[in-house]
Amino acid sequence: MTEWKVAPSYENWEIKSVDETNHKAIIRTKCDKCGGTGEYAWFGVCFKCGGSSYLQKEVKIYTPEEYIKYVAAQARAKERRIEVAEARRQAAIDQSEENKKAKLAEWGYDPENPLIWLVGGGSTYEIKDWLKEEGCKFCKELGWYSNKPLDVPEGYGMVSIKFEDAYEWFPITKRFEIRKEAKEVADAALSSLVPESHSEFIGDIKERLRDLCVTLTAARTIDGYYGMSTIYTFTLGENILTWITSSCQDIEIGDKVLLTGTVKDHTVYKGIKQTVLSRCIIKKE
Ligand SMILES: [Zn+2]
Repeated sequence: MTEWKVAPSYENWEIKSVDETNHKAIIRTKCDKCGGTGEYAWFGVCFKCGGSSYLQKEVKIYTPEEYIKYVAAQARAKERRIEVAEARRQAAIDQSEENKKAKLAEWGYDPENPLIWLVGGGSTYEIKDWLKEEGCKFCKELGWYSNKPLDVPEGYGMVSIKFEDAYEWFPITKRFEIRKEAKEVADAALSSLVPESHSEFIGDIKERLRDLCVTLTAARTIDGYYGMSTIYTFTLGENILTWITSSCQDIEIGDKVLLTGTVKDHTVYKGIKQTVLSRCIIKKE
């Protein structure tokens, strides 16, 4: 009597019946989804075995001689797959430079000297539609950027960084991925677009400053944790003062007002010294 064998992946399955003429067998094993209970969580009946507790299938069977040949052929096929993968990996490394240049060219960069052009100097949010139309891209590390210099609106500027200071090339996967230091590189480059500030701190912390003749230069609404508030930015000569309040003020950008407030903090934001005020009172001149 022949000792029939199934493929190694089914060796723990139970052989239910053998069809010797066609070299086939019906095999079964306990359902791995429901663990043979036939029930599965809130579905009630196990959807994998249909409640029968068993998985069943028809598979090819082998004589001991056929089995040895089958296992050897499987092993050769596996070796071959590993060889092919290794050859592909080596080819990707050999082709790395060409692949990288092709990718850069596809994205519109000069493959010999790829540069990323960053947009800055002002709030890019306000010109985001224009930037989009010009084909610029945005990412949180670089902000808005382009593969070429653009004629940006007045008040804005562009500065270039080396593509590979922001992105690292992976030859095997043929991909660029953003470097973790990309933001630092971009911020340093963008800081050259901001005009040098001569702002100095005013007063001492907790000091009440009275009737400063200031100009409102910005009013930005923010939707924060405590609800809506407005950041008012004033200038006093070259010095910058800010006040965050949830109260609504009847002033417009460019207005000159008399500002009274208590110095809450001295901070540096984007390299610019700012005096932060609280409990402000605004009087129009
Ligand atoms: Zn089941």
